Amino acid sequence: MLNEVADGIWVRQSEWVWSNTTVVRGDDGLILVDPGIHGSELDELADDLDRLGIPVVAGFSTHLHWDHLLWHARFGDVPRYAMPASAAAAPAVLERGQQMAAESASGVPLELIGLVTPLPADGGPVPGEIVEHEAHALGHAAVLLADRGLLIAGDMLSDVLIPMLDPRRPGQVEAYETALDRLDAAAGHVDVLVPGHGAVARGPEVAARLAADRAYIGALRRGEEPVDARLGQEWLAGPHRSNVELARQSAG
Ligand SMILES: [Zn+2]
Repeated sequence: MLNEVADGIWVRQSEWVWSNTTVVRGDDGLILVDPGIHGSELDELADDLDRLGIPVVAGFSTHLHWDHLLWHARFGDVPRYAMPASAAAAPAVLERGQQMAAESASGVPLELIGLVTPLPADGGPVPGEIVEHEAHALGHAAVLLADRGLLIAGDMLSDVLIPMLDPRRPGQVEAYETALDRLDAAAGHVDVLVPGHGAVARGPEVAARLAADRAYIGALRRGEEPVDARLGQEWLAGPHRSNVELARQSAG
């Protein structure tokens, strides 16, 4: 079930909204990025990790939404990192996250949700370079592994999900523009892109993902209806309407 997408980097996709768990081999062992989603899938992931025979040394959450804050006892009692702003805000969103996990997924170990600690400035055991920005969620982090030609994007640059503006904070259109500039600079070093949800992108598809998110955000900024293949999915009509409304409010 674990698919090796670059040297020492594996991806496992969940049945729930095409969520991707990324497993990164670091100097001392494995780092689990955003493991998820259903309890049975976390259990299968633990089996896959046993087969790799490399210990898990840490977790990393790209942002503080519940589907990126999960864990399973079989991964071990190791530090689970998030950006300092996310780690500071996590206790306040724990209860809501547990509720959403219980409603949306099955068998999730609720007591292990969101137990994150601030990532040290030197990255600790997490290899590569963090690309932090304020789009989608507070202190959202992508992980650039330039030596392995891969970028873990979190909830950006998906082929299935449109950008989803954070309704709790103003200035999200600008935040997305800044985030896409930073991710664009990082993407110059990679051939493989792992989004939080959807298919892994390779080669020219990486630039196409950036272009699609830029086009969507550009249309919101101009008050136009985006031409975007992802909007063919009916269930995204609600999130899209909410984006349009937020963009209109911040423009007004
Ligand atoms: Zn997500």
